[in-house]
Amino acid sequence: MAKQPENNRVDKTLRKLSLEKEAPKGVFVLLAVLFVFSIFLTSSISRSEATAVIFGIPFEIKSFTGISSMLGNICLICLAMLYRKTGYLTALALILLQFPLMFINIFIRSNYGNIPGLFNNILIILAITFIYFGNRKIQAYQNHIREQAVTDRLTGLPNRFACSELMQDLLKRSERFAIVSVDLNDFKSINDTMGHETGDHVLKAVADRWMSLANSLKTGTVDFVARSTGDEFLIIISGYGSLDDIERTITDYKTDLERKITIDDCDYYLSACFGYAVCPEDSDVIDNLFTFSDAALHETKKKGSGSRVMRFTPDVFSTEVSLEIERKIRSALTDNKILCHLQPQYDMDHHLRGFEALARLKDDNGKFISPADFIPVAEKTGLVDRIDMRVFELAVQFIGNVTAETGADITMSVNVSVRHLMKNNFIDDIRRVLRNYNVSPSIIEIEITESIMIDSADNALQRIDELKQLGFKVAIDDFGTGYSSLSYLNSFPTDMLKIDKSFIDNMSLNESSKQYVAMIISIGHTLDLKVISEGVESDDQVNVLKSIGCDYIQGYVWGKPMPLEEANRLVASRK
Ligand code: C2E
Ligand code: MG
Ligand code: MG
Repeated sequence: MAKQPENNRVDKTLRKLSLEKEAPKGVFVLLAVLFVFSIFLTSSISRSEATAVIFGIPFEIKSFTGISSMLGNICLICLAMLYRKTGYLTALALILLQFPLMFINIFIRSNYGNIPGLFNNILIILAITFIYFGNRKIQAYQNHIREQAVTDRLTGLPNRFACSELMQDLLKRSERFAIVSVDLNDFKSINDTMGHETGDHVLKAVADRWMSLANSLKTGTVDFVARSTGDEFLIIISGYGSLDDIERTITDYKTDLERKITIDDCDYYLSACFGYAVCPEDSDVIDNLFTFSDAALHETKKKGSGSRVMRFTPDVFSTEVSLEIERKIRSALTDNKILCHLQPQYDMDHHLRGFEALARLKDDNGKFISPADFIPVAEKTGLVDRIDMRVFELAVQFIGNVTAETGADITMSVNVSVRHLMKNNFIDDIRRVLRNYNVSPSIIEIEITESIMIDSADNALQRIDELKQLGFKVAIDDFGTGYSSLSYLNSFPTDMLKIDKSFIDNMSLNESSKQYVAMIISIGHTLDLKVISEGVESDDQVNVLKSIGCDYIQGYVWGKPMPLEEANRLVASRK
């Protein structure tokens, strides 16, 4: 019942925005009061015969009349300037109210001292009238610009900017709403086959249809339809009772769209995908709501043709994030911007054993994206081989140079993904890089995660054999996380076990975790393997690891991953 005025409010919201920029009401009252005060002040000091002494100079109080009447004039001008029509009419009324008294004084009481005041008032009326009409012109122009800024030229619907203003208004009043992103299916084919002019007519027809549906209030909710870009529309739905009402309203728009549209005697049957997010349930930040509803829309589109409705879920968003990361990886690979940082590894006497090469990818704002975020995406999209190769090349180049310069006897560990390891040209690729930089495989350690042994043990075994025959060292990374069986471990010709950080973290928490690490070390030694602990952060952990016979340490306690130049200085200054 109360929906009609609600709906009008949607349009008014957009118009009233410029009015909101008006000066506060309190200032209006203050100006009016100040004006009335200046009138009384002017009239009382104009009659005063007293003299005031300022800085030793005597002044007749009367001579201050000009100042107080100027104060009044300024108040009136401010009213007309700041408060448009209301201010102008108030200022006019305040001046005109003085006229009867002035006429009585001049024409009946023959008090000609009021004549300058009369002229002053006439001039002020002219001044505020000029200001008012000047303001009106500017106002009309501003309205026109504003109208254009919030309206889509082609369809006459409000645009995305208008939507965000409406959403801000709803948020301010703590009203619940849903933002729906809509994309017409196969609209491109109408443009391609029938031409852009027809395409434009179709978009207009959709806009008109949806606009009348929104205005009819048949959906039972308060809807606001806008065009975003191309064949994308937005609908803001508010005034609903339960979340189910949102989907019901969207279905109404879907059904309305699917009715035949006839243009120039040609019939068109349209459908669309709808993705939506709800405020405040999904987010109460406008940018996020747009991103979430767009993400839900793209997720539905990915599922193929046909019309579908989908609400945002965090899973959808992670797909979007993945796409964004994939884009960043691709552009970093093209622009050679994948970097490599080196984290030092030490023996228990704090002598440098070597480094682990870790891939680094910078965000557009210069911050590093964590490998924990981009390596899984690279694995999924098949880009990880290229990252591995880039890091491998940088690491090999580094160790080639640094060993030639300093004669240091150090090892370079590199991470290799399962995907890359299993590729036919993997061995050829890495041998080519070693040849280019004249580096022996014996100082390169290939890190393979424990999960390989479980998922693809036989294939991996063959590859690891090949690597060993070529003279590479092999380490099993993140050991302890994959529950590999001892028999597998025994059959893999590896050189090193890397105990995962999670076990090192737990060591200080309880005795059994410490015993667990001690057991891994002793298994490693039984199988004639060296053992390195990863993620060692404190001296206490170092001491415990020493006491249980660990061979090497890699962790923030003795060195974080660092850029190549820093690693170079570290090698040069090694003990
Ligand atoms: P990872 O191979 O186990 O590498 C060790 C990770 O532990 C690194 O994280 C390192 O910065 C971190 N780390 C080392 N010491 C400490 C410590 O004391 N405290 C803490 N909090 N962290 C420590 P990062 O660089 O974020 O790499 C994460 C994972 O991403 C690596 O785990 C590896 O699996 C993968 N990765 C990194 N670079 C590459 C690459 O070039 N290729 C492939 N395939 N994977 C890579
Ligand atoms: Mg590693
Ligand atoms: Mg690890």
